[in-house]
Order: sequence, then C-alpha cells, then structure tokens
Amino acid sequence: MKPAPFELFRPETIDEALQLLADHQDADIKVLAGGQSLIPMMNFRVAQPEFLVDLGKVADFWGIEEDSDLISIRPMTRHADVKANPLVARYLPLVREAYDHVAHATIRNRGTLGGNLAHADPASEMPCVMVALDARFVLQSKKATRVLPAREFYFGPFVTAIEPDEVLVRIQVPKARSGDGFAFEEVSLRKGDFAISAVAARINSDGGVCRSAGIAIAGVAGTPVHAEAAETMIVGEPVSPDRIALAADAMIATIEFSGTATISAEYRRDLTRTLLTRALTRASSVGGV
Ligand SMILES: Cc1cc2nc3c(=O)[nH]c(=O)nc-3n(C[C@H](O)[C@H](O)[C@H](O)COP(=O)(O)OP(=O)(O)OC[C@H]3O[C@@H](n4cnc5c(N)ncnc54)[C@H](O)[C@@H]3O)c2cc1C
Repeated sequence: MKPAPFELFRPETIDEALQLLADHQDADIKVLAGGQSLIPMMNFRVAQPEFLVDLGKVADFWGIEEDSDLISIRPMTRHADVKANPLVARYLPLVREAYDHVAHATIRNRGTLGGNLAHADPASEMPCVMVALDARFVLQSKKATRVLPAREFYFGPFVTAIEPDEVLVRIQVPKARSGDGFAFEEVSLRKGDFAISAVAARINSDGGVCRSAGIAIAGVAGTPVHAEAAETMIVGEPVSPDRIALAADAMIATIEFSGTATISAEYRRDLTRTLLTRALTRASSVGGV
C-alpha cells in the first residue's frame, strides 16, 4: 500500500525546521528521520500525517561529540554510525553491546538513534539502555529548550513527552566511570527482532560492594521499565549470587506480565528473571571500565 497524500518539507537549518513545526502545530505534522518506522506506518495508513518535515538536510543534527562527562549524540546519527563510533566504544560500552541486538544491517544503515528513541517502541533496546544509563534528552521548539531525563520521557507505547512543536535535538549520555560494569541481555524470536524481554544494567562496584546501579527492562510493559526495586536491593550491598537472586525476585514482583498468542505471561516472567540474573551477574563481575 502507498501512503496517503502529504506535503514534504526539507529544511536545511534547525530554525527552519522548528519554524515549520510551530507554523503547523495544530495540523498533523511529523518529522521524518530515517523513515524505518514512520514510512511503514504511513504505508499501512496507521499514520497519515498531512505534513512531513524531513530532518535529513539539517547538518547540525548529525554527529557525536565528547562533552566533559557526557557523550552528546545528535538525533540524525544513524544506528550504524553510533555502533561504529570510537567515543561510543570507549565511553558507552552498554550502547555498543546493545546495538548487537538492534534490527538488521540495512535498517541500521538508515534508521537513526533519535528516531528510535522518539518512536518509543516498548520492546526497543535503546530506550531501555538510555533509562538504565540515566541519559538526558534535549528537546527544542521555536519558543524554548528543555532537558528531560530519559526516565521521564516515556509515557506509553509510542507516546513520549515530545510536544507537537518540539524536536529531539541531543541525546546526552553519561560516560562510563571508574568501577562501572555493564551488561545487556536479550531474548528475541529471531536475531534483529524486537525483544521479548531485555535487560540493560550498569553496576558500579568497589571491592565487591555495589556503590550505584542503573537497571532497566524492555519488552515487559508499555514503556521501558526503570528497575528501581532491583537497584534498591543491591546498592550498598556485596553483590553475591544470593543478593542478585533477591534483586531479580523483588523486581519481578513489581511487573504485571502479559502474554501473547505465542508467548505466555509466565514465560516472559521467568525469562525476565533469568535475564536480570545474568545481566546483574555479568555487570557486577566485569570489574569496572
Ligand atoms: C524490520 C525491522 C526491524 C526492526 N528491528 C528493530 C529492533 O530490533 N530494535 C529496535 O529498536 N528497532 C528496530 N527497528 C526500528 C528501527 O530501529 C528504526 O530505525 C527506528 O525505530 C526509527 O528510527 P528512524 O530514524 O527510522 O525514525 P523514523 O521512522 O523516521 O521516525 C520514527 C518516529 O520518530 C519521530 N522522530 C524521528 N526523529 C525525531 C526527532 N529528532 N525528534 C522528534 N521526533 C522524531 C518521527 O516523527 C516518527 O514518529 C526495526 C525496523 C524494521 C523495519
């Protein structure tokens, strides 16, 4: 099927893009990034925007920089370029590891990190990683710029805090610190599919005692789940197998698992417990970066 008719804008600056969104904010207007999610939705007529603002020509939206204790990623940076970037390899090992599970090469060559985060698929890997790492998202409109924690960005499946006249302009991810260990664990039906369940974990430890942790789960609710119950069970404690089992059980108890025609709620719950156990074990045994 082909998309319903729409008018396409191709701005070359952020100002032009924001002006277009401001001028049309009462109409059905969407920004277009890599098109890997939006275009199929338009072809299926699930989305029928009247106006599309293609961000591809806005040079300021491409690239990755080091910014003191953060890595700042511009939204149109393609998955493949994030995955291959040396700053990401050095300072964001969790992002690098999780990318092994994101889609297929052809999709990673077109799809962008900003589009992926804004699309807000609850089974998507990168939103879960950003919640675990406590990343910040910079949102800009013609009127204002605001910074939101990833942990406050996701409202429901495909629903975020982005207002109709706003664009995600920067993804600010804290660099790995001394003592940090990371792990990403996922099970999907086939390699490159969205997660049935996935766990992203950062554990900072010193002499075997957990000093801080960031843990998140994808695929088990309408948004990425910040696993606070698990964090509470391990922070300040020696990270032993018993402690990890307690943390996994405590976290599982907070989630209402649901099933599908092919995946039962019980399976997803048991799988998530196993993935939590594996991720926490590995992140706490990596011994820091
Ligand atoms: C077969 C297939 C398999 C896939 N498997 C996976 C997978 O395993 N894991 C995974 O995470 N993803 C997967 N994807 C999705 C892929 O990662 C997409 O690239 C991504 O979800 C959307 O990124 P995009 O750049 O293509 O965005 P687009 O499709 O262009 O846009 C997606 C949405 O984000 C909005 N948007 C885009 N950029 C911005 C911005 N800067 N500010 C505000 N809003 C913005 C758009 O308006 C739109 O609503 C898969 C896709 C396909 C087709």
